[in-house]
Amino acid sequence: MIKTKIQKFIRLINIALYKKNLPDQIVVYFHETEQVEISTIQDIILFFKNMDYEFVSVSKISKNFGTGKKMFSFTFDDGFKNWENLIPLFNMYGVTATFYLNSVFLTDEGNEIFMRNIGLDNESKIINQNIISDLVVHNHEIGAHTHSHYKLSNLEFNDFKREVDNNLTLLKEFSPEIESFAIPFGMSRYLKKDQIKYLTDNFQTICFGEAGMLFSQKDRSIQRYPWQIGLTFYQNLINLSTDTNFFNRLTKRSGLG
Ligand SMILES: [Zn+2]
Repeated sequence: MIKTKIQKFIRLINIALYKKNLPDQIVVYFHETEQVEISTIQDIILFFKNMDYEFVSVSKISKNFGTGKKMFSFTFDDGFKNWENLIPLFNMYGVTATFYLNSVFLTDEGNEIFMRNIGLDNESKIINQNIISDLVVHNHEIGAHTHSHYKLSNLEFNDFKREVDNNLTLLKEFSPEIESFAIPFGMSRYLKKDQIKYLTDNFQTICFGEAGMLFSQKDRSIQRYPWQIGLTFYQNLINLSTDTNFFNRLTKRSGLG
């Protein structure tokens, strides 16, 4: 079964390589990981392992941009209970990943605003402290994603700062060094200039989520591709291989659908 899968993917690689090379360093992101995502993630691991990619955290891949080293980072945003299903899968293949967590659900403030902000309808899907500890025990990286997931460009500086600082304080109880920050909703147009400065002063790396930008990585400003379950594996590969940097700069929008 796995062998057939690999053969199918090798055929796809050839088509992809014919069009354009995949980036040497690839960062993708997911949110919830239900069965369909888990199965897709296993396909991704098999495919990129076969292409000699190493699976590393964002902090590690960010130190290797521009080198010829083939590295792949899985990242996950917000904080879902079903991330626990990733732990055995990642153990099996020796994968290290980065998890960008919000934190209001670690307090007694109530989850209504957070759930509204991320469009979640079921509170029982939110991650708990045990699973976060388990991710840390298994050497995965914890990154910051603000306390309650507001669109940051809508916040006054003091509210923005509180969203970042509270998040950092709560996450440090699990992992003393939080080096990386992923902005809610991913687009750089959701950040103001003074906010970018504050984030740059407080984090090693800031992650964005605009597709088509993987050929334009910078050490401290990282572009991630949203792997799309609704597309075929092949279409996702083509997207990974497509450079839309020029289009994004021009329009402040992603060049990929
Ligand atoms: Zn998010």
